Amino acid sequence: MYSEKLRSLPPYLFASIDELKREKLNAGIDLIDLGVGDPDMPTPSNVIDALCEAARDPKNHRYPSYEGMIEFREAIVEWYKRRFGVSLDPEKEAMTLIGSKEGIAHIPFAFLDEGDVALIPDPAYTVYRIGCILAGGRPVEMPLLEENGFKPDLEMIDEKTRKEAKIIFINYPNNPTAATAEKEFYKEVIDFAAENEIIVCNDNAYSEIYYDGQKPPSFLEVKNAKEVGAEFNSLSKIYNMTGWRIGFLVGNEDIIKGLGMVKANIDSGASNAVQIAGIEALRGDQTCVESNRRTYKERRDSLLKGIEYLGLKADKPKATFYVWARVPEEYDSMKFTKLLLDKAGIVVTPGVGFGRYGEGYVRFSLTEKVERIEEGVRRIEALNL
Ligand SMILES: *Cc1c(COP(=O)(O)O)cnc(C)c1O
Repeated sequence: MYSEKLRSLPPYLFASIDELKREKLNAGIDLIDLGVGDPDMPTPSNVIDALCEAARDPKNHRYPSYEGMIEFREAIVEWYKRRFGVSLDPEKEAMTLIGSKEGIAHIPFAFLDEGDVALIPDPAYTVYRIGCILAGGRPVEMPLLEENGFKPDLEMIDEKTRKEAKIIFINYPNNPTAATAEKEFYKEVIDFAAENEIIVCNDNAYSEIYYDGQKPPSFLEVKNAKEVGAEFNSLSKIYNMTGWRIGFLVGNEDIIKGLGMVKANIDSGASNAVQIAGIEALRGDQTCVESNRRTYKERRDSLLKGIEYLGLKADKPKATFYVWARVPEEYDSMKFTKLLLDKAGIVVTPGVGFGRYGEGYVRFSLTEKVERIEEGVRRIEALNL
């Protein structure tokens, strides 16, 4: 019944964990959920007010434009200038997306023909790989190893693969490893892409979730980036807006045009009311962004202190709301995840769910209140690992 493409998708690894989680919930167990990549804090009220007002205006009840409202694209471009010092043309170098996941999943349809290669990181957000497979492309993994700071080693990509590759996905600050990238790394990627005629897509969804004032750069800050690439970003994590579905792509005009052609045939754009809320988010009061950072920092420090004391190894993240921790040697990531869930009522994500190079790690999300994180640490302590 299902297409070969659908059947060829990597197996859903979380089924047994979902099942165990359901069992625990049904049994009334108080679960501490550090498994989801979804902010637990609400969208700021000025943004909701703008959304409600826009929803009442009949002008916004009709089909939106494919590429997004020009006012929203102007707000993105202003924000990129203010935050990164990057200049963009709102008409040609910015496009609204129905959440960045939508754009990430669709972009392979614009640039991959049957059998063309997409270079994807491993471990990674699963959408790069699956979008590529659904478009008929062939994903080739670039291992992200701890000894390389969870950056791909481009020199390891052989000549044949370089020739077959049409697109390379990178994602810094990184989900799930929480690694960040400096401009030198982006420069390497740009040179590699220019030499091999490969399109670069950086996913910068966590650009604003950073700690200790260490602001992650945009890929587009680096010289010649716009010749070869584009960057996905999203209001989801910055403004706690995952439920509204609003993101964007900025950068190379032809890349944006390509994704636009695909989307014009698939969807009819993001709702105007949500884009108007997005304008308020980008241009209005930014207090929530700083306050999110403070909240995640408190949680990060609390979790790290706890798990390090217990002998788990994890780097202190400079960005993202994840902690990527090594599991104790006698476990693999799935076994350890099940142990935490079964014996401590703590939900984490097994690293292997992000790709085979994620084996040996689990991802903690900082999406529960600090008291709950402390309670989680106490429960792990009681396991006497
Ligand atoms: C959360 C996340 C996104 C954002 O997804 P939206 O569709 O914009 O909500 C993109 N990339 C990564 C790696 C993420 O973790």
